[in-house]
Amino acid sequence: MDCPVNPGTLVVLTDPVAGKEWRFIPSSSAPLTAWCLLQECPQCAGVVPVADVASFADLGDYLDRPDPVLRPFEFNGDPAHHYDCPNGTTRQ
Ligand SMILES: [Zn+2]
Repeated sequence: MDCPVNPGTLVVLTDPVAGKEWRFIPSSSAPLTAWCLLQECPQCAGVVPVADVASFADLGDYLDRPDPVLRPFEFNGDPAHHYDCPNGTTRQ
């Protein structure tokens, strides 16, 4: 089955009881099976991809223990970083 995902797709997951909201864009490393969680960069507060998430368990794991080592490729160099953020200009 062909299931194209537009790279500009934004998925918003809300929990109205807790008043929480999470935003996702397709992961470039696994566009049909994973999503990049968007949250604030810890250095500049720009909203950037911080984790690849393929399931609710992945999301829970990230929210329980954010691990900078597991940041997706898209984190470094994302244009949403502030111009002087150390994460804004380098890709690893
Ligand atoms: Zn940043």
